[in-house]
Amino acid sequence: MISHAVSFVALPIGNREDITRRALDVLGEVDTICCEDTRHTAPLLAHYGIRKPLLSLHEHNERERAVQVAERAEAGERFAVVSDAGMPGVSDPGYRLVTELQRRGISYTVLPGPSAVVTALVGSALPSDSFFFGGFLPVKKGKRQRVLAAAAAQPYTSIFYESPYRMATTLKELAEAQPGAQVCVARELTKVHEEFHRGTAAELAEQFAKQPMKGEMVLLIGGINAPKGDTASADAASTI
Ligand code: SAM
Repeated sequence: MISHAVSFVALPIGNREDITRRALDVLGEVDTICCEDTRHTAPLLAHYGIRKPLLSLHEHNERERAVQVAERAEAGERFAVVSDAGMPGVSDPGYRLVTELQRRGISYTVLPGPSAVVTALVGSALPSDSFFFGGFLPVKKGKRQRVLAAAAAQPYTSIFYESPYRMATTLKELAEAQPGAQVCVARELTKVHEEFHRGTAAELAEQFAKQPMKGEMVLLIGGINAPKGDTASADAASTI
């Protein structure tokens, strides 16, 4: 039996089996499921035999939806909130709704589960004891270059989401600023073609320039304390 008005539920980031039993229970019990794109979420729910009314909640309507969901929750409706993949609120809608619920004193909870940021960190072989997550890298070149240059100078690992269309350019910019920085590109996590590309910024820039890659990617930049890798493993993608 669910005891909270709103449950924020993490969903798989590529492998449908990565859903928790609790997530399935809650999704099956709520009255309404808020999701970014109903066309994306409906097939996943159908896979698990869950049929519920869906309500769109995305970056363009989150402000109004937060008020609507809060009012409906106050009237007794029970909601689950999901994003297309991973943890809602992490580079995805969720933050505005949480603050609205918190402001009104409406009970909510978060069901933990997959998120690309921690999955990439653990698999990167970069120090995972202390890290910074910067969300999506800036699209504007000057701002992006400043963020990249600063990341390699930190005493911790920095993690960014980046578009596959910009990854080669981004690695080139990083290599210009910090060629020796230890870097990992985690690609297609939890999917059949999962890969971790590791090496220095200069090595990965060269690799991605020769062979641009598609798919979802996370860029991780080791800080000043990141151990130097050996060149034998620099351009070898490992698949788990
Ligand atoms: N809420 C999600 C989470 O908790 O990770 C992140 C959503 S954000 C809109 C999407 C970005 O996350 C992608 O552009 C990519 O950088 C990263 N991402 C999501 N799934 C991924 C995967 N399976 N492999 C690598 N990166 C992934």
